[in-house]
Amino acid sequence: MISKIEPEASIRVAIVGAGLGGLAAAIAIAREGHHVTVLEQASTLQEVGAGIQVPPNSSKILARWGLLDQIEAVAVKPNDFRLRSYRDGSLLSTQNMIPHAKAVYGAPYLHIHRADYHAILVREAIRLGVEIVLNARATGIDFDRPAVVFEDRTAFEADLIVGADGLKSRCRESMLGREDPPYLTGDLAYRIILRIEDMKKVPALHDLIEKPNIDYWMGPGCHAVSYMLQGGQAYNVVLICPDTLPEDLHILEADPEEMRLLFKDWDPRLRAMLDLVVETKKWRLRDSREMPTWTHPSGKFVLMGDACHATLPYLAQGAAQAIEDGAALGALLGQVNQTWQISDALRRFETMRKPRTERVVRESRALQDIFHLPDGGAQMKRDFNLTQMKPFEGY
Ligand code: FAD
Repeated sequence: MISKIEPEASIRVAIVGAGLGGLAAAIAIAREGHHVTVLEQASTLQEVGAGIQVPPNSSKILARWGLLDQIEAVAVKPNDFRLRSYRDGSLLSTQNMIPHAKAVYGAPYLHIHRADYHAILVREAIRLGVEIVLNARATGIDFDRPAVVFEDRTAFEADLIVGADGLKSRCRESMLGREDPPYLTGDLAYRIILRIEDMKKVPALHDLIEKPNIDYWMGPGCHAVSYMLQGGQAYNVVLICPDTLPEDLHILEADPEEMRLLFKDWDPRLRAMLDLVVETKKWRLRDSREMPTWTHPSGKFVLMGDACHATLPYLAQGAAQAIEDGAALGALLGQVNQTWQISDALRRFETMRKPRTERVVRESRALQDIFHLPDGGAQMKRDFNLTQMKPFEGY
């Protein structure tokens, strides 16, 4: 274990939630020599069966933690970021990620299966001595002790509690002292994973899979994103469409036919991909309202990740921001060797992180209108502007 702090000067940190954010915080804080316990409600450690984009702001942190080799071994590096006409798939803009992502940001742009990403973070956390407790569903926080409280009224005490329990955070509601359901965005996502072997049999798809790229199609009310995964064995497709889920259900099995109908007038490549889909689910997309503060007045509790800044995925930044949160929290707690110093570290954490994450939430939400413009003048202007973009102006 990397231990910068004398054992007697380390603090005890409890993190609620073993998602990508909670694990990132666990790694960063344990690297500073503090004692970390992660409390996870699930009975097994796992992530959603889908892909995730790892932009350079997060891959840079993974590199600093010595994890980039492991990540790259199971990830894919896209050559180009391609924006296509939704009608016929003609290219509107091509931004070359290789070599520019690394040259400009000092770290690569990657795609990875969430399960692989999560497993690497779990292994690293355990290697650093982090204790991960499963079946530990927090029902609230006792801010004075401080302690995480469970359904059976038992509690887990620590010097600092970090609420990393995602979009439907009990920790957030406990701090606010009221229910705080996530904000409905009006969109949902179909998440699909195809086998490259199946795609190879369809000539219309060869253009998409001859080398790794990220492809985007933007049309009225919907958009689609696709990229390779798992060393080129699998292919991830996400379709974003208007939310038609019943009020009380946030994830539902979906009939592939309904999805094909929604995209029936789109690029034949996209339709050919959807013809290969046997099963899929749809997920309601929600994000969060800005909170007045992430830190409890006791100075012993803080929120991070989706628990305080859930973000529409249109900039592929939600998890990347949670990883940044974890890294920032670790670096600031690295300056702490007495419990009375924690509140100052949390104040600095919030000052540093809140404006940045709120900007990402707002900018991701703003893309909803831009991506989903109806046919007409504004859409034509957007697409024309894309054709005028020079390579690697960013997006
Ligand atoms: P979560 O991943 O939600 O983890 C929370 C954890 O806390 C879970 O393990 C949960 O079981 C646990 N938990 C919950 N409640 C309790 C409780 N009461 N007690 C104990 N444990 C609890 N981001 C990107 O960076 N790139 C992308 O390409 C990208 N694509 C996306 C595509 C889609 C369709 C969606 C919906 C999101 C996407 N995101 C992307 C966003 C990203 O998935 C999230 O921002 C990120 O996973 C948040 O991590 P987290 O650890 O904060 O929360």
